[in-house]
Amino acid sequence: MITKNYLLSPGPSKVPEDVLLDMAQPIFHHRTPRYQELFSEVTGYLHDIFRTRNDVYVFTSSGTGVMETSVTAFLSSGDTILTIDAGKFSQRFADIAKAFGVECITIDVEWGDSVDPQVVAEQLRLNPKIKAVYTTLSETSTGALTDIEALGAIVKETDAILVVDAISGLAADRLESDAWHVDVVLCGSQKGFMLPPGLAFMSVSQKAWELAERSLLPGYYFDLRKYKKALADNDVPWTPATSLIVGLRGVLSKIVAEGMENVWDRHARLADATREAFKALGLSQVSQAPSNAVTAAWLPETVDGRSFITYVRDYLGVTFAGGQAHLKGKIFRIGHMGYCTQFDVLTGIAAVEEGLKKFKHGFEYGSGVKRFQEAWLTDVDGR
Ligand SMILES: *Cc1c(COP(=O)(O)O)cnc(C)c1O
Repeated sequence: MITKNYLLSPGPSKVPEDVLLDMAQPIFHHRTPRYQELFSEVTGYLHDIFRTRNDVYVFTSSGTGVMETSVTAFLSSGDTILTIDAGKFSQRFADIAKAFGVECITIDVEWGDSVDPQVVAEQLRLNPKIKAVYTTLSETSTGALTDIEALGAIVKETDAILVVDAISGLAADRLESDAWHVDVVLCGSQKGFMLPPGLAFMSVSQKAWELAERSLLPGYYFDLRKYKKALADNDVPWTPATSLIVGLRGVLSKIVAEGMENVWDRHARLADATREAFKALGLSQVSQAPSNAVTAAWLPETVDGRSFITYVRDYLGVTFAGGQAHLKGKIFRIGHMGYCTQFDVLTGIAAVEEGLKKFKHGFEYGSGVKRFQEAWLTDVDGR
């Protein structure tokens, strides 16, 4: 039997075929008008997609590189920040802060839930020395969505800045950086941006720049001031990942051509139909406030999550992600972000059914696929 591979993990995600070919072009030099033209086009698209007039910087790194930069660029050791522990990724900010001697006040949230904005407001009232609040748009480890609009309204009334990790959420879940008063937005290339891993992005507000001027944490490659100076000349401080930037122009132009409202809408419909399908299969969601980028579901107790993921990947060719930390073996996650249509997700739902069958979970065969299509079509009719 042949196996065909379907990548449905919540990052990395699929890359459009024409963009893959475009990235195979011969390498060209980056200190050239050709590169500058490409880069200014990319920068224009980034403003549209981040919904901001602030500078958006492009880094050659994975998402964690800009997470670290969002600590080192704005803080000094001994400063205090507010972090939220609601999953594997939101937790990472506290780990990074600790590595640089930054004090953390952490709000613990049950994994799967989202932080209550009023709890953030209370912490800011109790601790006026908090310099920055770090949170996550879409918590990829649980599939939960954070109410960034509410947090933005709270944080803007204080001296603190709001930093949002939108690495999996951007271009899947609505995020209005400027209108919602988000100071720093982080993104990566391999999720909603439908590129290979290797690029990261960061927008920076005026309020955040004021903090950056006073930061004493060391940095060289990721020194934000070098990126700002270069961007003013439509340039980058170091050799960029030129081929990825070529691909970036391709994917961003697709997002802008589809239109942000339509992009968000497509993700909402894919996510909604996925949740409906899981319900039909008797699988409950990990998050009751779910993101449209990724859906995480509990597996039946009789099904070992690790064996399920491995079987579906190695025998059916469909890649999902398992659970992290204490959720390992208990949940699985499907990404429906980026270059994804109803037929991609439908393949995923069919694979879930085959996997569940293999591990002897009782359900009506075909009920997930049927429910997915019904939900998808109802949504279309409803519009
Ligand atoms: C993927 C992801 C990251 C980490 O990105 P890397 O590219 O693996 O460094 C951080 N935050 C969120 C929410 C993510 O989904």
